[in-house]
Amino acid sequence: MNYKNFAIETDTDGLALITWDMPEKSMNVIDLSVMDELDALIDEVAGNDAIKGAVIASGKAAFSGGADLTMLEGLLKDFHIKRGSDPEAAAKALFEGSRKLSLAYRKLETCGKPFVAAVAGTCMGGGTELALACHARVVDEGLKMGLPEVKVGLFPGAGGTQRVMRMTDGQQGMQFLLQGRTLRAPQAQKMKLVDEVTGTRKLVAAAKKMLKAGIDPVKEWDKKGYKLPNGKIYSPAGFQFWPAANAIYRRETHDNYPGARYLLHSVVEGLQLPMDLALQVESRYFAKVLQTPEAANMIRSLFVSMQELNKLARRPLDQRPNKIKKVGILGAGFMGAGIAYVSAQAGIDIVLIDRDQEAADKGEAHTEELMNKAIKRGRASEDQKEKLLAKIVATTDYDALADCDLVIEAVFEDRDIKKTVTEKAEAVMKSRAIFASNTSTLPITSLAQASKRPKNFIGIHFFSPVDKMMLVEVILGKRTSDRALALALDYIKAIKKTPIVVNDSRGFYTSRVVMTYIREGLMMLADGVPAAMIENAGKMAGMPVGPLSLGDEVALDLAWKIVSATRKDLGVKYVEGPLDNILEEMVVKRERFGRKNAKGFYDYKGKEKSLWPGIPEVTGQPKSAESFNIEELKQRLLVMQALETARIFEEKCLTDVREADVGSILGFGFAPYSGGTLSYIDMMGTPAFVELCKKFTRKWGPRFKPNKLLRDMAKDNQSFYGRFPPKTPQLDKDAA
Ligand code: NAD
Repeated sequence: MNYKNFAIETDTDGLALITWDMPEKSMNVIDLSVMDELDALIDEVAGNDAIKGAVIASGKAAFSGGADLTMLEGLLKDFHIKRGSDPEAAAKALFEGSRKLSLAYRKLETCGKPFVAAVAGTCMGGGTELALACHARVVDEGLKMGLPEVKVGLFPGAGGTQRVMRMTDGQQGMQFLLQGRTLRAPQAQKMKLVDEVTGTRKLVAAAKKMLKAGIDPVKEWDKKGYKLPNGKIYSPAGFQFWPAANAIYRRETHDNYPGARYLLHSVVEGLQLPMDLALQVESRYFAKVLQTPEAANMIRSLFVSMQELNKLARRPLDQRPNKIKKVGILGAGFMGAGIAYVSAQAGIDIVLIDRDQEAADKGEAHTEELMNKAIKRGRASEDQKEKLLAKIVATTDYDALADCDLVIEAVFEDRDIKKTVTEKAEAVMKSRAIFASNTSTLPITSLAQASKRPKNFIGIHFFSPVDKMMLVEVILGKRTSDRALALALDYIKAIKKTPIVVNDSRGFYTSRVVMTYIREGLMMLADGVPAAMIENAGKMAGMPVGPLSLGDEVALDLAWKIVSATRKDLGVKYVEGPLDNILEEMVVKRERFGRKNAKGFYDYKGKEKSLWPGIPEVTGQPKSAESFNIEELKQRLLVMQALETARIFEEKCLTDVREADVGSILGFGFAPYSGGTLSYIDMMGTPAFVELCKKFTRKWGPRFKPNKLLRDMAKDNQSFYGRFPPKTPQLDKDAA
């Protein structure tokens, strides 16, 4: 048979080398053609007496990025179409379609010939499951092995749950599966998930050596008398372990993620059965989780949409690609130093400018600190650190900006200072170079007034800490050109972050929604909800931190400044509320600014924090927790953010549903299981969402009043994805 994605070559010792190298892709992924060809390859190896065993390796730098999840999206679409006319046949087709890979791997495992996986670099999802189905694994030092399926609402459904738990320690195995963590070679070897670590070039030879030395083609769990490494589920040890595992699952997920829930089911039930039945149980739960709206939404936002945004779905098509060689950064503070680090990591030369040399040097030292940490963890070398530092020139001299392709300002959030640095930079910059502001709140159009070239002026809003946060919000001023947008997007792609593009407005998208979350927490305090209950409601709703905690992080004095400025702007029209009192009491009377002065809604001692016992002094004695419905509090916190997003969408600051969803998850951690702020509304249905907003308006105030767009959509039961389907230009589909 001729293979498109693989090559097979058998040497004189009868050892076959199967090289996986998909044409026109930068990364090997599992799609339908790969599954069919793998199946045929296994038959070929098993059926050919001249072949004694096989090595599976990759022809690319990495082994595999995992499955192309658009394949599952297709399966799901068919299921929903068929379900109306023949639900039984639809369910059967989904079950069989979604276990094809699992069956192929089981065939490999039981075909009678030994297979060794030779794994270099990244090995994710279905790629990891393929390696685990083989009879041995040799990996290189650059291994990054993971089963990240839970992160997109699924779980490893091609034998991953069963094989991991039969190969390794229970606690480590469960953590690996539930957290979707990536393992490096030494950890993977310690966990017995790999057998040998060697240099990249020696992988195939090492795998063949293993085969020659003799590898049992029958796995331990397929032999009589097999004992699980952690003992039986129903045993004294099992009674210690499994109830605790269940409790940890609840603590970590608040039962919001069906993928994690069914993963646990699959493990606990599967471990009580022989392998073939166990895999069947895993497949049943996998088909079940696929049908949940959470999985569909997470696959859509965190896989499909994110991939499209990463490939610059919003880039103007007629613009030529830009190679960004040199970037200038004004302000070497908290943000500027972080931007310098991530840009230098992408191989870009950096000019880092501050008011004095000491401040500029301090910004550069941030890169040194981050690299020292990486070296300590074995993830970078001294040589890499030196090379990176050599890319950054810390200076006070604006002339150094003369040959920059892009200049990003990250000076204090002060109009006058921003104006001064814009003028100084533009005086020396190339006429075609782009100037970007990292402002968090100031409208870009107004900042562009300081520019002589407003077409070349744009907002590039990073999140802190810059090296960890994957989102970048690009803001278009009124006169920003397509070329400026294209260059900004090319830069964001180069530094491997995910861009969203929004139109100009105060607070843009993310900051504006985040503020509503904090505000709702404060309103709850004013309603007499106990502070601990508010914080728990936030976390149980799926937010990374409670709203009071977030208020402390953002800084309460900043919130007070914003409230005071709004009050000044609106004059008599401003309606004073309980929020003003709480902030005034906290900030003006008690100087409790939040984390920054170790006093806010929490008291901070080093890394420890605890709720400030004096909160009732500010808010009055809270009512009893029993007088509030926790489900309603959770909804209040999510509905408020989703509603604000719908308003921003109506105002056309946001124009793409994918950006609303992906931006909300990556930018401020909006309940990832929902698929994002607009998917949250779609999941509930616009009629139900509008009803809930009306109910909350009656009960909690006019801030919950649904906007016109939502009311119109609710009338016709329209969804955001139905009414505003995202436009995707032809993007090349590769790495999954
Ligand atoms: P910061 O105070 O840590 O750093 C600002 C730096 O600008 C300081 O090093 C200061 O010396 C320098 N600076 C001031 N005036 C200057 C001048 N005339 N010329 C050159 N350098 C000058 O502040 P930050 O937190 O890094 O914030 C910078 C910008 O990024 C602000 O606009 C802020 O709103 C925005 N931002 C901040 C965050 C955040 O979480 N901190 C997030 C997104 C955006």
